[in-house]
Order: sequence, then C-alpha cells, then structure tokens
Amino acid sequence: MSAPRGISLLGATGSIGATALSVIRRHPDRFRIVALTGHRRTGALDALAVELEPELVCVTGGEPAAFEPRWRGPWQFGPETALAAAAHTGADIVLNALVGIAGLAPTLRALECGKRLALANKESLVTGGPFVLEALAAGGGELLPVDSEHSAVHQCLAGRPTSEVSRLTLTASGGPFRDWPLERLDTASPEDALAHPTWDMGTKITVDSATLANKALEVIEAHVLFGLAYEDIDVVVHPTSIVHSLVAFRDGSCLAQLGRPTMEIPILYALGYPDRIDDRRERVGFDPLRDGPLEFEAVREDAFPLFAAGVDAGRRGGELPVVFNAANEVAVSAFLEGRLSFRELSEVVVRTLGRFSDTPIESPERIWQVDRDARTVAREQTEALTCESVEGRAAPGAP
Ligand code: NAD
Ligand code: MG
Repeated sequence: MSAPRGISLLGATGSIGATALSVIRRHPDRFRIVALTGHRRTGALDALAVELEPELVCVTGGEPAAFEPRWRGPWQFGPETALAAAAHTGADIVLNALVGIAGLAPTLRALECGKRLALANKESLVTGGPFVLEALAAGGGELLPVDSEHSAVHQCLAGRPTSEVSRLTLTASGGPFRDWPLERLDTASPEDALAHPTWDMGTKITVDSATLANKALEVIEAHVLFGLAYEDIDVVVHPTSIVHSLVAFRDGSCLAQLGRPTMEIPILYALGYPDRIDDRRERVGFDPLRDGPLEFEAVREDAFPLFAAGVDAGRRGGELPVVFNAANEVAVSAFLEGRLSFRELSEVVVRTLGRFSDTPIESPERIWQVDRDARTVAREQTEALTCESVEGRAAPGAP
C-alpha cells in the first residue's frame, strides 16, 4: 500500500468540511490532512489542528484579538491564505468546501499547481467556468466534482466522451417549499427555508435549495464540467433525493446513480477516484424495497423564478452568471437577516440581472470587478425593496 495522499481541506469548519473529515478519519491508510482553512471559527479550527496535526492552518477571516491557540504548528491569517493552502506542496488533493465566490481564486490556484481538485464550491464554476478549465489544462491536474448530482453524472459517464450523451437530467429535491401554494410562499421565514427535507447543509446552499437558485447554479456547473449544451441539460424534481442524476446516451440507454442522501459518498468518490474505496458504513447503498417508490415531477417555475432566471443567465453567458451569483449571495444574506421576504429575495436577483448584459469576460480580474458591481446594485435593490415594503405596510393606516 502506498503512503496516504495529502489533503488540503479548504472550509474545514463548514458542513462539507465536517462530512469530509468524518470520511477521512475512517481511512487513515489512504488520506492524511496536511492543511486546513476556516474563516472565523478559530476555536473549532484549533481543536481540529490538535487532532489532525496538519502542516499549515489558515484563518481566512484574519487574526482574532487575543488569540491563544493550543495548536503550536504554523498558522496563517487573512483572505489570501486560502491560496497558500490550495498550493501547499504536501497536498496531492485540494478539497474546496468554501462557500460563495471566495472559492474561485483557490480553485484556480489548486489547478494551476496541477493538484487533484475535489470541488464542492460550485460558485467557482459558475463565476469562472472558462478560466477554471484553462487552469485545469495548463496545470495538468484533475477536477472531480463533489456536488452530488455532478458526482452522479461523472460516475454514469465512467469516462465515456460527452459526444455519446444525448441528455443529462439533474435531480432536485424541490426544497422545503416544493408543494407550498404560491400565496403561502410570501410568508416563508428563514426558519422555514432552513428546514430542508432531505439534506443537512450549510445555510447558504439550504436557502438556495428553497429558491431553486441552487439548481440553476448546478445546471451552469454541469454545462461547464461536462461541456453539454444547455438544451441538453434537464432538471426534474425527485423529493426523496435517492436518484442523484441520470445520463441518457445516444443509443437510447439511460444510466442513473442512486444512494442515500449523504455527501459522504460523493466526497469519498472524489478523493479515491478511480478506486471504489471500501467504506463499511455505505455497503447497503440503495435498497429498492426500503427506498422506493421513486417519484418525479416537473419544476414549478412560476413558484421559483430564480431557477429560470439563473439558467437563462448561464445560457446567455458573459457577465450574467457572475451577476446572478453575486446578487444571489447578497439577497440570501438579506433574507437570513430578515431584511427581505422570500419573494423579495428572488426579486432582488432578477432586478439586478436586468441591470447587466452578456458582455464577455476577458480575464479573472474582470470577474472580481463584475462581482463587486453586481453586489453594489443588489444592495441598492435590497434597500429599495425594504423601503417599498415599509411604505406598503404603512399605506393602509396612513392619513
Ligand atoms: P458552510 O457554510 O457550511 O461552510 C463554508 C466554509 O467556508 C466554512 O468553513 C467557512 O468558514 C468558510 N468560509 C465562509 N466564508 C468564507 C470566505 N469569505 N472566505 C473563505 N472561507 C469562507 O457551507 P457548505 O454547506 O459546507 O457548502 C460549501 C460549498 O459546497 C458550497 O459551495 C455549497 O454550494 C457546496 N455544496 C454543499 C453541499 C452540502 O451538503 N453542504 C452539497 C453540495 C455542494
Ligand atoms: Mg447538489
């Protein structure tokens, strides 16, 4: 047996980070943590460092006041330290579990360094798709998706060229509001949105699953990863999240990947590929009697406007996917802070998209600029909607 492969885990304190660590702890003969990053939860990061003894620990949110870690190894502080972790020489694999566009620069750096990138951070592919593929080609490394639907597609393709594929179908749970009537959606609170029926995830992606923005991000992600035209990528709602995606081939055969809704399976696949690592806990997999029947339904585009808006942004391309992502990040935060209603969240994103065009993006630097500009517009739209709803509420009783 060869030496364990070094893993740099970006976003160790998050949901994917925690799930990855539970998988990695079960396979010390295969994997060894060499670098960890976290944004602010330094206590949790310190405890992980004491346990895992990495060569590098990075706090991307900066050094907190009066910080006295128990871990005596090297620490680095500041946003750019995620790049040091992505390029760390001891890392064979970089697992990018950061949330939002903050994941893009480390994705590019890991690929430029020729690493295997196990990518959970879909926002990197949405905002920087062509540059990510360029970095992959230049560095000669590997890109393995961790997102469960894309892991499913990768597994169904099994190395076949996408020229043999006639259609991809990504599945969506439909989120907590799948069967809510339109008028009830206006009353949906952050607590309602965070109660996901099948997946236990970080707050941003959980809200994205409730608006279906997540599925639009995933359609763009699939387009970048697998090089298929948007017309050949479908989405279907599958409430129990057992079938993770389907690939139809041009000879009429269709393959699907099935399993319980746990991110442990796609994480282990991305770390171990091409091996199927023996993982005792997952042997049962899909049980047709226990896990059936498998039900599917159409996406309710009228109830979840961010699905069509996001796919349209992807299809039109240029600056628009960056704008969609940035406006969505701003609007999700405002919704979680109680400044926007569920319906207004989508409204902010749609209004912000309307202020930009599909102008091509020539360089990664331009992505950051468009991201900043779109955030400014999205914040203005958030303010405007907050004022409108205060005026609307005041109107009936106003003199
Ligand atoms: P999370 O919020 O639980 O964790 C995010 C991690 O990123 C944390 O470690 C946090 O400290 C760090 N972070 C936050 N802001 C940062 C910043 N500005 N700079 C650097 N680090 C920062 O999120 P998550 O649910 O683990 O999701 C991570 C990524 O994986 C997202 O892109 C998400 O869409 C994707 N994903 C998650 C799941 C899931 O089950 N959670 C499934 C599929 C895909
Ligand atoms: Mg997914």
